[in-house]
Amino acid sequence: MAPVRVHADRAAATLELEWPDGHVTFYDFETLRWLCPCAYCRGEAGIPGWLDSNPQLTSIQMQLTDLALVGTYALQPTWADGHHTGFYTFARLREECPCPADTERRQKERAAHGDHAGQRRLG
Ligand SMILES: [Zn+2]
Ligand SMILES: [Zn+2]
Repeated sequence: MAPVRVHADRAAATLELEWPDGHVTFYDFETLRWLCPCAYCRGEAGIPGWLDSNPQLTSIQMQLTDLALVGTYALQPTWADGHHTGFYTFARLREECPCPADTERRQKERAAHGDHAGQRRLG
């Protein structure tokens, strides 16, 4: 499902996506940077990625400088530190929507699957 509208607001540091069903998803750039799905950030073949080490992100690393469309299925942000290897699929951007309704939905789904990670309190 591709969004009908994508708007990156650099001044507000937010990415807005409007979906065909009318739902609107807002990501702040920090949340978006933490979601980077690339092998460097996420790791591969069982090796932890950079984000798994819980790094302290700098303002440069959370600053979006460019946003490219990859085919019809993903967005590829470029960050001010030069990082640009993450392909954020629309499916994932919709799934990880940080709005209260979707947060609650994910928690219910995780509880239903017996995975209590969604209930863990951070910090
Ligand atoms: Zn990455
Ligand atoms: Zn949502």
